[in-house]
Amino acid sequence: TTHIIDGKRLADDLIAEVGNEVRRLAELGVPAPGLAVVLVGEDPASAIYVRNKIKRAQEAGMTSIEKRLPADCTQDSLEAVVEELNQRADVHGILVQLPLPKHLSEERIIRLIAPSKDVDGFHPENVGLLATGQATLIPCTPLGCLEMLQREIGDLSGKHAVIVGRSNIVGKPMANLLLQANCTITVVHSRSVNGKAIARQADILVAAVGVPELVDETWVKPGAVVIDVGINAIEKAGKRRLVGDVNYAKVAPYAKAITPVPGGVGPMTIACLMKNTLVAAQHASQSAR
Ligand code: NAD
Repeated sequence: TTHIIDGKRLADDLIAEVGNEVRRLAELGVPAPGLAVVLVGEDPASAIYVRNKIKRAQEAGMTSIEKRLPADCTQDSLEAVVEELNQRADVHGILVQLPLPKHLSEERIIRLIAPSKDVDGFHPENVGLLATGQATLIPCTPLGCLEMLQREIGDLSGKHAVIVGRSNIVGKPMANLLLQANCTITVVHSRSVNGKAIARQADILVAAVGVPELVDETWVKPGAVVIDVGINAIEKAGKRRLVGDVNYAKVAPYAKAITPVPGGVGPMTIACLMKNTLVAAQHASQSAR
C-alpha cells in the first residue's frame, strides 16, 4: 500500500521542535527570533500565505511583524521598508512575499535583503553558498521536500531524482540539495524532449511545474516516491479546489509514497521558514557575542 506523507503532521512536529529551542534560548536570555513579512498589494492567495506564516511564527514563540504596502507603491518605498528591516536588531528574518506587482523589480528587492536575514534563501549570495555546499539559509520549499524524502527513504545516496521544473525558488535549489544528498539528478523542464520518459526512470520524482495534474501514472515508475510541490486553484464541478501538479488519484496507486495537496509540501514549507528564522537568530546572537 502507498504511504501518504503527512506534511501537516511533520510540519507540526518541526514547529514544536523550533518552539522548544526558542524557549530554551529564552531561558538563556537570548531574545526571541523575529520574523518580518512584507506583503505588497491585495492578492488573496498571498494574503493567506502571509497570515499562515505569521500564525505559525507565533506558535513557535517568535515575534512577528507584518508590513503591508499598497499594490501601487513605488520601488523606492518598498526598498525603504526592506532597508529599515535590515537595520532592526529585533528582526532576524525578512520575507518579501512574491510575486510582486509587475512594476516592481523582484530581483532588486531580493538583492537588497541582508543575506544573513534572507530566510527565503533567494539572495544570490545564499544561492551561491547552496551551490557550493556551504549554505545555512536554504529555500524553504526544497528544504521541506528534502526533509520529507529523508524521513521516507533514509539515505538518498545513488537514488535517481528527477525534478520537473527549473524555477529559482523550487526546481533549481531542489536539484542542488538532492545533489548534495548524493542523488543522481535530472531536471526536466518546458523545453525538455520527452520529459515523461525521463521522469519514468526516477526513484524520486519532484513535480514543481504549476500545471494542474500534469503528472499522471504514465510519468511514474512503480515504487517511486512522489513529491508534489504544485498548488493550483481550479474549478471542478462548479467548486474551487486546490490540486497539485500530480494527478493524485491516478499516481497514488503506483507510488511507494506520495505527498497530498493540500497537506503535503505546503505546511512543510512554512515550518522550514520557522526553522530558517531560528537559524538566522542563532547566528545573530553568536556574532553579537
Ligand atoms: P514557475 O512557473 O516559476 O516554474 C515552472 C517550471 O516548470 C518552469 O521551470 C518550466 O520550465 C517548467 N514547466 C512548465 N511546463 C512544463 C511541462 N509541460 N513539462 C515540464 N516542465 C514544465 O513555478 P514555481 O514557482 O516553481 O512553482 C511551481 C508550482 O509549485 C506552482 O504550482 C506553485 O504554486 C507551487 N509552489 C508551491 C509552494 C509550496 O509551498 N508548496 C512553493 C512554491 C511554489
